Amino acid sequence: MADKVIVIGGGAAGLMAAGSAAERGADAVLLEKNDILGKKLRISGKGRCNITNAMPINDFTACYPGNGRFLYSALTRFTNQDLTAFFGRYGVKTKVERGGRVFPESDSAHQVADALIRYAKDHGVEFRMNTRVTEISAINGQIDGVETDVGFLSANRVILATGGASYPGTGSTGDGYRLAAALGHTIITPFPALVPLRTRETWVKQVSGLSLRNVSATIIKGNDTKRAATEFGEMLFAHFGVTGPIILTLSRQAGLWLREGFPVTLRIDLKPALSESQLDQRIQRDFGQVQRKQFKNSLGRLLPKNLIPVIVALSGIDPEKPVHQITRSERLNLVTLLKRLELSIIETLPLQAAIVTAGGVCVKEIDPKTMQSRLVKGLFFAGEVIDVDGVTGGFNLQAAFSTGRLAGISAVEGN
Ligand SMILES: Cc1cc2nc3c(=O)[nH]c(=O)nc-3n(C[C@H](O)[C@H](O)[C@H](O)COP(=O)(O)OP(=O)(O)OC[C@H]3O[C@@H](n4cnc5c(N)ncnc54)[C@H](O)[C@@H]3O)c2cc1C
Repeated sequence: MADKVIVIGGGAAGLMAAGSAAERGADAVLLEKNDILGKKLRISGKGRCNITNAMPINDFTACYPGNGRFLYSALTRFTNQDLTAFFGRYGVKTKVERGGRVFPESDSAHQVADALIRYAKDHGVEFRMNTRVTEISAINGQIDGVETDVGFLSANRVILATGGASYPGTGSTGDGYRLAAALGHTIITPFPALVPLRTRETWVKQVSGLSLRNVSATIIKGNDTKRAATEFGEMLFAHFGVTGPIILTLSRQAGLWLREGFPVTLRIDLKPALSESQLDQRIQRDFGQVQRKQFKNSLGRLLPKNLIPVIVALSGIDPEKPVHQITRSERLNLVTLLKRLELSIIETLPLQAAIVTAGGVCVKEIDPKTMQSRLVKGLFFAGEVIDVDGVTGGFNLQAAFSTGRLAGISAVEGN
């Protein structure tokens, strides 16, 4: 008789796990509390779904600030190339964009979700929608089945793929933590990773929506400039503060320092390609061409239009002052401001607003070669419910797919 495998959660990890178990001959049932599958996957990558990254797979583990090494087996057994080949077989052609980000050529996250569903269906996975798991049952340390809001289902293999606790509207409301904890698993307190940052300064409102490309941003712990982290790339101003790829990447560390009670400063270098003296020379050249203009009208070649009034106000230079009257020290202060535009970070947005949840089921209690629980036989984990989290660039979905694949296969092989 075929093994009975129950998969809890129909996201990226659960769909891959269920399809993989069924492909290996299991009788796989996927339980999903929503009335649609892959709800989060369908909004990922702003609806375009950044499925993975094209960098060499051996470099991947460094891209998970949360327990990258734990993922090594899963990632090398089902790599980024395996993933793109898999989607290729299901009609999803892919393309590589800036930073190695891999997207479907169609720019459609729905196409990705639908391909996964087709994969699972082709191998006979049974889907039960609107079914919420309330308890996982184990007898003498061995899985026995699951309790749902519509009754009990027996099985000797269960794969927990309920996601994290971010974007709860997509279904990931942290149920998996409660289910795993009830079986004795340690839950590393979930916290937001890849999350926008709220600033004390309210001038950000004036430039809300403005995106800055090719800037560098540094977060600094207290006054200790040695305890800092820097990212280069794109960021975005929002009415509450800052967001965008480089800010999201820095947010995990910023959040940790804030929770430790340290003030956190964000320092933006608006002109990272120029040294201070090069920038000064550039400004002198620009000023030389607009000598009679007022200062407030002189920065058009240097800065995005919306940012000019902010910089003018922060510079302390009289906005009406003709450029030729600006003193050397005023100009040097302007250079410093452009190289070190500072914002005080007061908090991260809450967990619900995070792209990914850090924390979760403690990796020490999961066998990385199989994804099986070290505490309960027949219990497997996949995806964001595990205490792993990656930076932006397709790493979180690759982790969900790789751990889902490994859990699905191991649930069948691990007899
Ligand atoms: C806005 C946004 C954009 C993102 N973009 C990207 C991107 O482009 N690239 C990238 O790599 N990552 C991205 N991520 C992160 C990535 O989407 C997630 O890490 C990944 O989807 C996690 O997959 P998962 O299967 O573990 O969990 P989920 O996709 O959250 O799936 C979990 C499923 O379990 C179900 N469930 C929960 N509890 C129960 C229960 N008790 N019973 C039954 N079912 C249950 C939920 O309804 C849900 O369908 C993005 C995240 C967000 C929020």
